[in-house]
Amino acid sequence: MDAIKGFFNDQARQILPEIWEVAKAIGENPELGYQEHFAVGRLTGFLQRHGFEVERGTAGLQTAFLARYRGNNPGPKLAFLAEYDALPGVGHGCGHNLIGAASAGAAVILSKSLNLPGEVIVIGTPAEETSGAKITLVEQGVFGDVDAAMMFHPGSQNVAEISSLALDALEFTFRGRAAHAVAATHYGINAVDALINFFVGINALKKQIPDDAKINGIIVEGGTAPNIIPERAVAHFYLRARRRKSLESLREQVIRCAQEAAATVAAQVEWKKFEFSYDEMQSNATLADTFARNLRVMGIEDIAPPQTAMGSVDMGNVSRVVPAIHPYLMMGTGTEIPHTRDFAHTAVSQEGERLLLLAIRVLSFTGWDVLSDVKLLQKIKREFRQRH
Ligand SMILES: [Zn+2]
Repeated sequence: MDAIKGFFNDQARQILPEIWEVAKAIGENPELGYQEHFAVGRLTGFLQRHGFEVERGTAGLQTAFLARYRGNNPGPKLAFLAEYDALPGVGHGCGHNLIGAASAGAAVILSKSLNLPGEVIVIGTPAEETSGAKITLVEQGVFGDVDAAMMFHPGSQNVAEISSLALDALEFTFRGRAAHAVAATHYGINAVDALINFFVGINALKKQIPDDAKINGIIVEGGTAPNIIPERAVAHFYLRARRRKSLESLREQVIRCAQEAAATVAAQVEWKKFEFSYDEMQSNATLADTFARNLRVMGIEDIAPPQTAMGSVDMGNVSRVVPAIHPYLMMGTGTEIPHTRDFAHTAVSQEGERLLLLAIRVLSFTGWDVLSDVKLLQKIKREFRQRH
């Protein structure tokens, strides 16, 4: 380990009690997306105590924030992304209390270097589990002056480079004509019939799409009483594909399917997006390799090859505008299942503390490499330009 990383290593040990207290408190006080006031208070308090300039309510989102620390020398701008939202029922079952704390911790450690080039930014990004705020932050230009972005996520193995699926959330509303279900059958147009046709059509379509494309739907509204021919029926669908482009053609197929289903019974259909669209995560391989190299500096050799997460993350939208990584680090035995109470429990246990310390160290090492190694940043940016 070179001298500066040795310094960050010691600093991480020193701030651990303070930042672990923050991580644990957030873990024990779970808040749902866009309501994370307690978490934001604790994280920004920690950053302010260490000399960061904090702006809250970034991009008009009450629980988003931006914390900056300028180094003594000019240089690039590096963003650590902090997540801190929880899940209904299972609290911090995704371990986002550790994500926010690790990003804030790594940023503070970097700020302790007297020779810090450029600027370290912590971006507080609410509601990853629902309608991810990173999408709004990207659209509002918050990443406009950022050179690279990173975070870590607790998981079942160590993986530096991941990809994830692009996602569209579509609402379909079928409209028919209400009538007495027995006395005026001929007058009614049954919206539920259209909806059922749609689900049948989707089942057929599923057999013709690539393995990594996914269509999952539920019925949200399906009539009010059996003696009224339903005039309205609503379904929610998540469509996913490996690339935004293939997702767009999948979306066209699904919409056509809905239109045909409606036409069969002379009903009408409309569709709209009911949540934000997530883009696929495109990890910057050069940045991911740097992260993996720093994991090895910490003695961790058990690193899995690049993986495709079968879910979607809002970091995907960030990875389209700046070089970014979303690595996973193994928490516990690797058998704890995300989005469970078990996972939430581990994230506030001693094991959570161990993982937080590791994440802070590896993120700060990687951050230092990006800020101080001009050639490395050039390579990261070259790769980004070639992909986009
Ligand atoms: Zn998560």
